[in-house]
Amino acid sequence: KTFAEIDLGDGLKLNIRRCNYIKPTPIQRHAIPIAVAGRDLMACAQTGSGKTAAFCFPIISGVLKNTLLVARHGGGGGNAVACPLALILAPTRELSCQIYEEAKKFAYMTRVQIAVAYGGTSIYNQLRRLERGVDILVATPGRLVDMIERAKVSLKMIKYLALDEADRMLDMGFEPQIRRIVEQMDMPPPGTRQTMLFSATFPDEIQRFASDFLSDYVFLAV
Ligand code: AMP
Repeated sequence: KTFAEIDLGDGLKLNIRRCNYIKPTPIQRHAIPIAVAGRDLMACAQTGSGKTAAFCFPIISGVLKNTLLVARHGGGGGNAVACPLALILAPTRELSCQIYEEAKKFAYMTRVQIAVAYGGTSIYNQLRRLERGVDILVATPGRLVDMIERAKVSLKMIKYLALDEADRMLDMGFEPQIRRIVEQMDMPPPGTRQTMLFSATFPDEIQRFASDFLSDYVFLAV
């Protein structure tokens, strides 16, 4: 199966061709149709497997089908609270920036607005970007918790959650932050969140994440 045969929407498909992606990698071939069908997913994926596209394509495709998009922000204003529809969590600044750069290419010329938030640098420019409205937020857990505490980001609209390199986030001690973040999404009214968890290894803590955060999920090891 090629990307052209998967139901991803024309804008995204054009960008996939622009990126010179012709044939899906094994993780993409299996994960994308499952995610596009709306299922939760836990996938074993190493760096270089093409996992970024495996979670970005279904998220961008899903967000594009959402009529709310960024229009719901009404142009912002000084105290606007950003309400993204999708959240991608990654362990490090480097990885979050990498995902952000790729996601921007995949969403090129679509109405999907993407922003990135990571620690180790001033929060103010990142907050200013969020005030302009964001559909997909790529973030490291610590910086996102900071933004939630400042009431600059609300996760109550989140429809798609991707956890990338979940095992590394645990190794770095982000479990409490991740649990706090996911709790925000579970506040009433209960959303119909779709969650995708990517990890290279599957220790007990990851299994626990899966049973706490995913529902009726498909496990993929390719
Ligand atoms: P990742 O594992 O997501 O970091 O991807 C590894 C590299 O492979 C990145 O440079 C991607 O742009 C590239 N890549 C991912 N999927 C494909 C594909 N289907 N065809 C060609 N290149 C790809």
